[in-house]
Amino acid sequence: MTNTDGVFAWIDAHRETIISDFKEFLRIPSLTGEEGRGQEFMIARMRSLGLEMDIWEPDIQELFTKFPDIAQYPTSWQPELDLALKFKDVCTYEQLTGSEYADRLTYRDRPNAVGILRGTGGGRSLILNGHVDVVTVGDRSRWDHDPFGAEQVGDTIYGRGASDMKGGLTAMLKALEAVIRSGVPLKGDVIFQSVVNEEHAGNGSLSCAARGYTADAAICAEPSGARRYSTSSGGGVYWEIVIPGKEVHTGSRWKDGRQNGVSAIEKSAPIITALLAQEAKANADQVKLSLGIGVVRGGTYATATARDCVLSGVVYFSPELGTGPAGIRRVKTMFREAIDEACAGDPWLSRNRAEVLYLHYDDAYRYPESSGFLKVLQQSGKEALHVDLAEAAFSACDARQLGNQAGVPTIIYGPGELSMAHSVNECVTEGEILEATKVIAATICNWCG
Ligand SMILES: [Zn+2]
Repeated sequence: MTNTDGVFAWIDAHRETIISDFKEFLRIPSLTGEEGRGQEFMIARMRSLGLEMDIWEPDIQELFTKFPDIAQYPTSWQPELDLALKFKDVCTYEQLTGSEYADRLTYRDRPNAVGILRGTGGGRSLILNGHVDVVTVGDRSRWDHDPFGAEQVGDTIYGRGASDMKGGLTAMLKALEAVIRSGVPLKGDVIFQSVVNEEHAGNGSLSCAARGYTADAAICAEPSGARRYSTSSGGGVYWEIVIPGKEVHTGSRWKDGRQNGVSAIEKSAPIITALLAQEAKANADQVKLSLGIGVVRGGTYATATARDCVLSGVVYFSPELGTGPAGIRRVKTMFREAIDEACAGDPWLSRNRAEVLYLHYDDAYRYPESSGFLKVLQQSGKEALHVDLAEAAFSACDARQLGNQAGVPTIIYGPGELSMAHSVNECVTEGEILEATKVIAATICNWCG
């Protein structure tokens, strides 16, 4: 038997424990901001494998000092704490510490946990990365299953975090366990990272990079699907546009033959038109931008022109527009240019400019072709599942922190469906978890062995 045959046999023989451990993990509501219990679970499991442990609470000041273009404010699932602070260009540590949120947006009782399996030396090292935080349940009445009940129907297991990404953390941990228990000797180190606050921040993985964690390759086990992988992730810029108006009773909108009242809502029209035109232009030959105008708020009375109108949303962008901080800067510049153009072309807005604020941003990432890691993952997929893994697109995730900030060639590979992430009735199948466990286990053997 080759190394991987023994490892696959171990996984098949331990199918039930793998799934029951997964369900136990899924029942812990490790919402963003309250990751403590979820991490206790992961730490206990890592310790039981004899891994060398490193547990710490991310240092926010260190993140802003080392990665001023990338660090974000901590976030929490609670609506008033999720993307609580807005800023004009980049977020700064000083804005956070000087704000009313300084005491609540912290990493107290939200530790990162890293477990290291030391190789015998001379081999290639591998990071296995996953986030323990899950997003809020949202409208509970829309769920057909207890979001923290880990209920199973047929092959499908339901729960918040099933796909995003407790299935991925489980697959990586069980893959590592399979390799250890099967006695496969490894030359390179395996570094298992269970991080906090991936959602709307990415600070857990950023803190791993700041602490010096690096390797020859990494898997970020977001839900690509057990038979698919992603070599890139898009970026995102979360924005808010504040449009001014002049509030008057509709009866006095026109005074002495001139317009007196200006509804901020009608002034959103030239701005939206400019943003849509820019999106269309950027996507003329290939889709690079995706503009989401998600929320509009404005006005007080039906009988008065609206004094203000606030549009908010996100613009997602592909790595073609730039990876790392450069891509974020380019997209923010494009966004501002469109709004400036709209304001310049409108008599009211040219004197009363719309203001752009940002709430959050993620950089885009692309795996470097020069690394040999993808070939090893593909070969491992074939050994484990007897199929060719397919390439798929993925949106912003911690692959950016591993790839751009820590400089580690990273592939996104994990069980579950991206469409399930953050959705009602989030689920994953047993089959997906077990298949991904095998592929990751084979990858560990083939890369680090
Ligand atoms: Zn995720």
